[in-house]
Amino acid sequence: MATASSDSRRSRRRKARPPVSVLRLGHRPGRDPRLTTHLALAARALGADRMYLEPPDPDLAERIASIARGWGGSFTVEGVEDWKSVIRSFPGRVVHLTMYGRPLDRALPRLAGPAPVLLVVGGAKVPPDVYRLADLNVGVGSQPHSEVAAVAVVLDRLLGLPSPRRFAGGRRRVVPRARGKSVVDRRRTS
Ligand code: SAM
Repeated sequence: MATASSDSRRSRRRKARPPVSVLRLGHRPGRDPRLTTHLALAARALGADRMYLEPPDPDLAERIASIARGWGGSFTVEGVEDWKSVIRSFPGRVVHLTMYGRPLDRALPRLAGPAPVLLVVGGAKVPPDVYRLADLNVGVGSQPHSEVAAVAVVLDRLLGLPSPRRFAGGRRRVVPRARGKSVVDRRRTS
């Protein structure tokens, strides 16, 4: 017999979640590698498929690839020279995250479903054309904070926390514990 909770579980399963990519504008190779690295790590860990990085930074892309080899999944960082062409050719909804945008709660219903989503975030300064080229300008609150926080909140609201299956193929995996650290390393056990 179907219960209210089994019905709601089924309906949650039926709702397709969009594949999400991130476009990071205005990266400064060699000047702020930590912030962009944290953006890529948060995007990967919270369920995005890829990050487009403008301008390209092959060293950073290789560092993230090495983390993905170790911890699994298929997240990639792709360098781009021409960010406008990434937005124009994107086959889905382009969402510019900005403190000046409309509230996230209002935008979420338009982003649910299988159509891909591109989250565009800036650095210190955002080219004004982004506001016009995006389908939606969305604020995670209307206070200034950070691209890492904005992407993390939107991914959580859109996708929920990813299942461990998403990170298949890694050499290492954490065994969650109440205290201390436990990591299974396949290189050591095989
Ligand atoms: N005054 C800048 C602006 O235009 O939002 C703040 C730049 S902030 C250091 C870098 C990036 O973080 C922004 O380009 C934006 O993508 C993101 N961001 C900061 N605060 C945000 C907010 N409240 N909502 C959505 N995104 C935000």
